[in-house]
Amino acid sequence: MTHDTGLIFLGPPGAGKGTQAKLLAEAIDVPHIAIGDILREAIADQTPIGKEFQQYVDRGELVPDRLILDLINDRIQQPDAKKGWILDGFPRNVKQALFLEELLAKLDRSYTIYVVNLEVPEQVLMERLLERGRKDDTPETLSRRLQVHKEATEPVIDFYRDRNKLYSIDGDRSQEEVTKSIEQIVTPAQSGI
Ligand code: AMP
Repeated sequence: MTHDTGLIFLGPPGAGKGTQAKLLAEAIDVPHIAIGDILREAIADQTPIGKEFQQYVDRGELVPDRLILDLINDRIQQPDAKKGWILDGFPRNVKQALFLEELLAKLDRSYTIYVVNLEVPEQVLMERLLERGRKDDTPETLSRRLQVHKEATEPVIDFYRDRNKLYSIDGDRSQEEVTKSIEQIVTPAQSGI
């Protein structure tokens, strides 16, 4: 593999980003970078920054960019991310997408970027999320998170479509079927499958 592989998973809350990103990260041996997990860890530890994150996460709002961008900057430059990475939960708005684009250009490595957009109808998302039962999966927070996704994150889909990096996938199928579709996008040589 001459190029580093960067995968970005987009899709509304409950679309299956985390599950699919984790499986693929194992298959192609790159780190699965889930921003939500990083935030929840800091919240669980009740670090000063964790307490700040919590105010936003509990309400279903995006954590402000000033707190998120440094975090991504540091994580993507860790040694384990040298050969590639899978981003799950970032970018969540166009400003974050632009930041990532500039960061990757600055790092001076040749990346092949794939953006996987998982499409799932809203009704199905609600059912899945209420079943999952995470702390920020209450009906009120959920509808706010879905709204934030529409307002802030959907423009990111157009951002990557304009750059010919977008692959939209029907996420309303079994986990195995969705995995298979994703593997077909990432070429067999890279997925090792
Ligand atoms: P997730 O685990 O991806 O569903 O994210 C859970 C929550 O973490 C979101 O509802 C936001 O409050 C926060 N969050 C995750 N990723 C980001 C991001 N890229 N920018 C801002 N907030 C984020």
